[in-house]
Amino acid sequence: MEFALFCTKVNILILILALCSPCKFIQSPMDYGPSNLLETKSSASLDFGRIVFNSPSAVLRPQSPRDISLLLTFHSASSFSKVAVAARGAGHSIYGQAQAIDGIVIEMDSIPSDIYVHKKRDDESGVSYADVGGGVLWVELLEESLKLGLAPRSWTDYLYLSIGGTLSNGGISGQTFKYGPQISNVLQLDVVTGKGDLITCSPTSSSELFYAVLGGLGQFGIITRARILLQDAPQKVKWIRAFYDDFDTFTGDQELLVSMPELVDYVEGFIVPNEQSLLSTSVAFPAHLGFMPDFHHVSSAKVYYCIEFAVHDFQAEGTSAEQVVEKISKQMSYMPSLVYSVEVSYFDFLNRVRMEEMNLRSRGLWEIPHPWLNMFVPKSGIKEFKDLLLENISPNDFEGPILIYPLLRDKWDANTSVALPDAPTGGDGVEQVVYIVGMLRSANPASCAAGCLDDILRRNRQIAEAASAGRIGGKQYLAHHPSLLHWRDHFGRHWNRFAARKNLFDPLGVLAPGQGIFPRVH
Ligand code: FAD
Repeated sequence: MEFALFCTKVNILILILALCSPCKFIQSPMDYGPSNLLETKSSASLDFGRIVFNSPSAVLRPQSPRDISLLLTFHSASSFSKVAVAARGAGHSIYGQAQAIDGIVIEMDSIPSDIYVHKKRDDESGVSYADVGGGVLWVELLEESLKLGLAPRSWTDYLYLSIGGTLSNGGISGQTFKYGPQISNVLQLDVVTGKGDLITCSPTSSSELFYAVLGGLGQFGIITRARILLQDAPQKVKWIRAFYDDFDTFTGDQELLVSMPELVDYVEGFIVPNEQSLLSTSVAFPAHLGFMPDFHHVSSAKVYYCIEFAVHDFQAEGTSAEQVVEKISKQMSYMPSLVYSVEVSYFDFLNRVRMEEMNLRSRGLWEIPHPWLNMFVPKSGIKEFKDLLLENISPNDFEGPILIYPLLRDKWDANTSVALPDAPTGGDGVEQVVYIVGMLRSANPASCAAGCLDDILRRNRQIAEAASAGRIGGKQYLAHHPSLLHWRDHFGRHWNRFAARKNLFDPLGVLAPGQGIFPRVH
């Protein structure tokens, strides 16, 4: 504790030096000694997207939430409040969202990882949960909770993302239709606001801050701890892939699957635009796919679709995941016999993208630009959006997965800061199904140089704008917008609430400048 306090005072002293003379500080970071002191690191100006590279003036590697609180308290009370501050989790943003040009980046992974798992006893009321630091990776939480036979209910496809990073966005995967996004599975948070206040909040205590921060794009506070709901983890998972050559049949089956949460545990799906895509999306799926589709029709390129779903296998007597899968498959309409089923451990299933990462790394294709576009699209506009997407890419040489799967609106808490598309109301009430579409494109510099990357980014903007403005009614997820006007449109009728929350919790507009939402208040 004394050491931490000492370090903190030194940090602030160095911060004053850094802010008075940022260049000097950048030039001699090592003068300041151990790694928990302020230092500059090129990693703070880098993210997974490799499109935006903004250098901070300084990097803070806190040892505790108190270090962050002291920094922000001092910062907002001093004349140095012109300097912006960004928390950086795992840095897996695409467009510099965790960067702070000439500001301070707080590297959340420096706070010692500390995960406490509470397993509910049979004679106890309440739930099982984990208390976990904001900079901890989801894979670390999974490893720790599995030791007690437990796991979080809701995931992202990739586990090497930080708790604070995904909770600031939403956290979506194939379990979202059943349990909601990760932000629907949080019981309590510790947050340092932009003013430096360290507050424990929940749906019943400081609830405005709690809901603001969930999906809040880092605008209102820095999550230093989260209490995550856990459930019993299965030993194994039955993992199924089925192929389609017709979009309506594909989405029809996806919607059938999400209407059976009592049987199905996970539903995703993707477009298969070319042969390479079929191979690369199959790296982690340990089945021999005897599927050799013809992508080349005389008049136009043909694309296929794949549904991926899973059933947890607790291997208890009397329940057979095999039988459940059989029962479900009978109701589906995939291409004759094009269904493949494997059984893998729960950990390997959740960690499947790691295998793809290793494969891409071994081929030098991981650390390259990623001009991604993610959109929420209401069911009523999904077919039109798919057509728009395919018109704007060249299916033959598209690199990277195109995910597309349904979510259910009522699993999202409208109090959180996430902007979902407004629901069209129809004859039988509010349309429940919203699709998430992830165009997770890679731009290999060997075949796609700067002009080509710019072209992809321009097309992405066109797709996003056409999809938001017209009948489709889509909204970006992990959004990137060029102006305040676009952000106002993005939040729509919730903009006033978002802006009021900013004014309440970060009135000087210090936090998360890389999102480019609020201009700084000087
Ligand atoms: P960072 O990039 O470090 O930060 C993101 C934003 O959150 C920044 O604004 C930052 O300032 C803020 N922030 C970071 N930590 C905190 C904190 N503790 N408190 C407050 N604000 C904070 N998303 C999904 O929903 N589903 C997926 O399946 C999915 N798969 C992905 C796969 C890959 C390979 C990649 C690269 C990304 C994927 N994502 C997915 C997107 C991912 O959830 C977001 O990019 C997320 O922000 C990454 O977390 P991070 O820790 O890297 O955040």
